Amino acid sequence: MSRIKVNRLDLCYNRYRGEFEEKALQVLRSGWYVLGPEVENFEKEWASYIGTKYCVGLASGLDALWIAFRALGIGAGDEVMVCGNAYIACVMGITMNGATPVFVEPDEYDNIDAEKIEEKITDKTKAILAVHLYGQCCDMGRITEISKKHGLKLVEDCAQSHGNHWGGAKAGSFGDIGCFSYYPSKGCGAYGDGGSIVTNDEEIAKKIRIIRNYGSEKRYYNVTVGTNSRLDELQAGLLRVKLKHLDELNAERVRIAQRYTKGKENPEVKLPKVRPNADSSWHQYVIHCERRDELLSYLAENEIDTLIHYPVPPHLQEAYKYLGHKRGDFPIAEKYADEVLSLPMYNGLTEADQDRVIEIINRF
Ligand SMILES: *Cc1c(COP(=O)(O)O)cnc(C)c1O
Repeated sequence: MSRIKVNRLDLCYNRYRGEFEEKALQVLRSGWYVLGPEVENFEKEWASYIGTKYCVGLASGLDALWIAFRALGIGAGDEVMVCGNAYIACVMGITMNGATPVFVEPDEYDNIDAEKIEEKITDKTKAILAVHLYGQCCDMGRITEISKKHGLKLVEDCAQSHGNHWGGAKAGSFGDIGCFSYYPSKGCGAYGDGGSIVTNDEEIAKKIRIIRNYGSEKRYYNVTVGTNSRLDELQAGLLRVKLKHLDELNAERVRIAQRYTKGKENPEVKLPKVRPNADSSWHQYVIHCERRDELLSYLAENEIDTLIHYPVPPHLQEAYKYLGHKRGDFPIAEKYADEVLSLPMYNGLTEADQDRVIEIINRF
């Protein structure tokens, strides 16, 4: 019996190896490596897949976030709502512009509790960052309603939700801007770093195209202090190959998730719930267990690796001491940090390996 890893990226690569390698060679031999035809085509294909008018390729998911807020004019003195159990990059995307994150407790689906947003709105509130954590959409009905009612910008962090839906529309198509990461472990993962934003607003798309390239539209003429955040041709080419298979990859993860859900018999383990009117792309299969650390050790002793997404909520991170939060400020986010556990979940996970995971969990 070999150890079951929490993720295996080689299996997906090997499944489409011929296509990936053909594309890589084609790009390497083309003589064009940054902002060329592969990026342009990928941007068109990704926008069409998500259901938005525009997509702009960037260097990472974190860049997508901070550049999104920058393009919306959100910075020092402004407040942005974000769930208290978010990934640290979500919060850094806000604070890199000098804006202040305002944490909102998560709901039973591990995402921002939409019913707790309004009570936190002040005259400094400028935006809501809806993070679709673990492959699940936030309650986009309530959230779009609240953002419209209060005139707030809506940004979606879709780094973990490539191709899943709320009410039939895809994550990334609800807000002013949708942000994606193509880090290798994400749904549509590249083979290096990458990211993008999607939007229906031509002006925003144009602005972000300028910011990503040193603030210039016309070469050597700079209209704003921008940055260097460009998706490269090799990654864009490989992403185009991956995108062709994304729906079948997501469908496979749904089957894996269903098998976990069907197999579980341990009353101490709470399974992830899918929001009504939504589906999940199962970026992670996250269970809750009050004796999480014991369960993690028990699984490890039995040759099963797991991960905690995430062990320390952002408001308790050393990096955010300056915000002045303390333990007890967000009890639900803190409780989740103590009880969440991500089970092995990847394309190519065999039924036999999965059954071993289920058996060990049921025996715990
Ligand atoms: C991965 C991730 C990011 C950051 O993406 P990078 O490409 O690693 O910078 C942001 N938000 C969420 C929710 C993520 O999972």
